[in-house]
Amino acid sequence: MTTPPTTPLGACIPVPTTEQVMAALGTVDDPEIGRPITELDMVDGVAIDGGAVTVDVLLTVPGCPMKDTITREVTAALTRVEGVTAVDVRLGSMTEQQRAKVAEKVRGGAGKAPGGQVVIPFAQTDSRTKVIAIASGKGGVGKSSVTTNLAVALAQQGQSVGVLDADVWGYSIPRMLGVEGRPVAFNNMVMPLQAHGVKVISIGFFVDAEKPVIWRGPMLHRALQQFLADVHWGDLDFLLCDLPPGTGDIAISLAQMLPNADMLVVTTPQQAAQRVALRAGQMTAQTGMRVTGVIENMATFVAPDTGTEYRIFGEGGGQLLAAELDTELWASIPIDPRLREGSDSGTPLVASDPDAPASQRFAEVAQRLAKSRTSLVGRSLPLKF
Ligand code: ADP
Repeated sequence: MTTPPTTPLGACIPVPTTEQVMAALGTVDDPEIGRPITELDMVDGVAIDGGAVTVDVLLTVPGCPMKDTITREVTAALTRVEGVTAVDVRLGSMTEQQRAKVAEKVRGGAGKAPGGQVVIPFAQTDSRTKVIAIASGKGGVGKSSVTTNLAVALAQQGQSVGVLDADVWGYSIPRMLGVEGRPVAFNNMVMPLQAHGVKVISIGFFVDAEKPVIWRGPMLHRALQQFLADVHWGDLDFLLCDLPPGTGDIAISLAQMLPNADMLVVTTPQQAAQRVALRAGQMTAQTGMRVTGVIENMATFVAPDTGTEYRIFGEGGGQLLAAELDTELWASIPIDPRLREGSDSGTPLVASDPDAPASQRFAEVAQRLAKSRTSLVGRSLPLKF
């Protein structure tokens, strides 16, 4: 039993309680896994002696590069607790067994089923994540720009969002969202990187940027399967998948892995672009994916000096495509040079200027998606007797 410390005048200084210390530790996330260290069983012991607190923290991997961050954040969180005068963080590392237990906890239902079959959580009927595949008939129409801006718009509206860059040959999402580095693997699970409030996984994180990717179908299929099953996405509201242009293997593989996904087709107003996009949209008929809507990009350009509106890439393509796919035109995104600059610098326009007309169109699409998701959540599944 320790006696509470006193001030020179004899007044009692409150001594921190174990509950207060644990609550403060609960505010510290493991920087790699993104979950509170208390939840991950990383807090191995707490000793309180007057105002001095000693905490034993077990790292998930020995020599974890994030140990300084953890020490700093634990110290900062505990220093904020009333009565704490000194903090000592002692680091240890988990045993193989402890690590496996944590991995199990984090993984939840994802990964492998007992029979060794790969389980894709998003394909389960009880998944609460809405998967949206973003497709286009050909490259360069702005599919990846739409994916990134839409993802950030959804995150700005409070949705938890993941982006899977499935455009394996022309991956551009890491650059557009300004994320680089290599995701950390933890007991066969990969932690996505994060930017602008969005979790991201791209093949670009795993390959040498200087070397072209020359993977063939089966390898890509396995890579995508891993991205869906072995990445710790957490509890997502939306997963946006940026598909490669066209109607190739990847799009079909993904459609098979994600039978509940919806598709948004991006096109420019040009008739030719619209015709190729039609083929991408029609692919859904073979795979079971549903086309939810069409997004027309690079629709108009308003000259900043005169205010004159130009339709550089023609007009009507989006509307026509929507009609042919028996769906609706969700938005016409204007041309804005800042959108391109933002993509090149890693800050999507939606983040740098949410009031820009193009950003507002993305926000409207995000709202519409959020609304359609809410109307699905809570709807009971058909029962079979
Ligand atoms: P895709 O994914 O279809 O190949 P991208 O998203 O990479 O297309 O876009 C192609 C190029 O056009 C990029 O340089 C991008 O920044 C630019 N871009 C896309 N949409 C717009 C827009 N609305 N206004 C201005 N530039 C745009």
